[in-house]
Amino acid sequence: MSATPQVRVRFAPSPTGPLHIGGVRTALYNYLFARRHGGAFILRIEDTDQSRYVPGAEAYILEALDWLGISPDEGPATGGPFGPYRQSERKSLYWSFAEKLLDAGHAYYAFDTEEELEDMRQKLLKSGQKAAAYNSITRHSMKNSLTLPQAEVQARIRNGEPYVVRIKIPRNEEVKVYDLIRGVVVVNSSTLDDKVLFKSDGMPTYHLANVADDYLMKITHVIRGEEWLPSAPLHVLLYKYLGLEAVMPAFAHLPLILKPEGHGKLSKRDGDRLGFPVFPLNWKDPATGELSAGYRETGWLPMAVLNFLALLGWHPEEGRDIFSLDELIEKFDLSRISKAGAKFDLEKAKWINRQYLAALPPEKLAQELRTQARHAGIEADEAYCLKVVELVRERLNFLTEIWQEARIFFVAPDPLPTEALQSRLKPETPALLNEVLQALARLEVFDSASIDSILHETLARHQQKPAALLPVLRLLLAGSLAGPAVSDMMQVLGKEEVLKRLKKFEVWREKV
Ligand code: GLU
Repeated sequence: MSATPQVRVRFAPSPTGPLHIGGVRTALYNYLFARRHGGAFILRIEDTDQSRYVPGAEAYILEALDWLGISPDEGPATGGPFGPYRQSERKSLYWSFAEKLLDAGHAYYAFDTEEELEDMRQKLLKSGQKAAAYNSITRHSMKNSLTLPQAEVQARIRNGEPYVVRIKIPRNEEVKVYDLIRGVVVVNSSTLDDKVLFKSDGMPTYHLANVADDYLMKITHVIRGEEWLPSAPLHVLLYKYLGLEAVMPAFAHLPLILKPEGHGKLSKRDGDRLGFPVFPLNWKDPATGELSAGYRETGWLPMAVLNFLALLGWHPEEGRDIFSLDELIEKFDLSRISKAGAKFDLEKAKWINRQYLAALPPEKLAQELRTQARHAGIEADEAYCLKVVELVRERLNFLTEIWQEARIFFVAPDPLPTEALQSRLKPETPALLNEVLQALARLEVFDSASIDSILHETLARHQQKPAALLPVLRLLLAGSLAGPAVSDMMQVLGKEEVLKRLKKFEVWREKV
């Protein structure tokens, strides 16, 4: 009995733009599967379509995987025993596969010009055909090595006439795709067309290069998006005709990530509309200059992104939602991937990000706060930042919000929010405030417990409710009604700063 081969999976993006989070999820599932089985995770850049090549896209993909902490074991940057890992650098490897198919009569040369192809399409559409395809019927009336005399075919090739190589799809045969998520998918070959395998520019198409490389790179499992399921029967036929059926990888086609409403694929427009990124990192379109937001730059934590993406289409047995990367690896199982599309749930994603933010060590948050403060022109003290962070951390959805939440600990509200103050002012407020100020000034240990008792005692003495005092205190200290508990805020701000801010009340009253 032969030993089971080592699991080898690949993420095979085309460098045609930024990586959509659907692509990131595909990469993640491949990564998790490889780790789960002690296998290798390979990055292969599928850049045979030169017309769709976008500069910067490959570097973007690498940087995104790196930021997320799921870098490949083999790939264009790392190298590996099966390189090169860019298809454009593997050109010389593909022709022998086309040749083998030609020799066995499973592929043929086609010389049709663009106009001739267009002509055929028009004729077919006019005659009422829904889809105009080059297939087992139409190929007989086109210019190819099945219809032209052999001598002419050879002469055309010798004379350097442009040609493509097409697969000869059989008529009316059942093609079975075994999919680890969907089970057996049976397709009648008459629904397939004679796809181009080799283009006139000397490059293979995706289909041929993909199959050749999966074979050459000893890929054991092809885990990819559902949009490739329609291509899978063609790939199965290619393995068969190339005599590689025995080493054909297993297929797993992942469900789509759907719009939050559940209809249709999640797009950049949905992200723009609902205010969340659909790309891992910021991306500037080199052609249009258009900027798209990334998860990294909008303050999401990489592990939170991995966590919520992992759960879009897959769920382990337990009902919980937070999993470390090691836990995801340990639990990941292709059989628990659902067939149905996964609705993108923004609230859940945010909730997951909050859990990771809350679990961050305070030093990390303090460091981030110092960086953001520096951007605002303030050199913040480390120990002070640590105290501030403890107060604001539970209010954070995103790392990027930390300065916004912490600002009041560095900058006094200026100008004071006049309208809000006026609307919260009760007849008793000035007297209450005055007493509180006196008591605070006398306080020796300026901690939140002592501050709290001062506030409570003052209110009790005057038989007043907190609403007569606290909103105004908040507005004077922070300029808004939101924020941490007033006494906690005061403790961190410190006596001197608190008195300074509260004393502004008198100045303000004189003015209004
Ligand atoms: N190059 C294809 C893409 O851009 C890869 C499809 C596959 O994984 O086979 O998605």
